[in-house]
Amino acid sequence: MPMINCRDCSKKMSSSAEVCPKCGCKAIGTEEERIIASKERWDAFQAKSLKREQERITKSRTRKAEQEEKEIAEATQKEKKALIALVFLIPLAYYVLKLTGHI
Ligand SMILES: [Zn+2]
Repeated sequence: MPMINCRDCSKKMSSSAEVCPKCGCKAIGTEEERIIASKERWDAFQAKSLKREQERITKSRTRKAEQEEKEIAEATQKEKKALIALVFLIPLAYYVLKLTGHI
């Protein structure tokens, strides 16, 4: 006899059992109907789990992309600042060297 999941507590039980041995919930329908109902519930559960997992992956990807974008923006900002510093420092160094007679 195949095993089915109790419709109440979801624990495994025999498809031929009239009541769930765990929670005492009464099994309804014929044995065949119980097997089909249990399979349908299981399929629905699987589909739901899969959907949730896909949503989780999509969300995690979006978060990762946002994080990368932020990091790139920060790196660009740092490069800009370094470039500005360089643009000011070179003429300043040149001016100082010229003033002190090194050039
Ligand atoms: Zn039960």
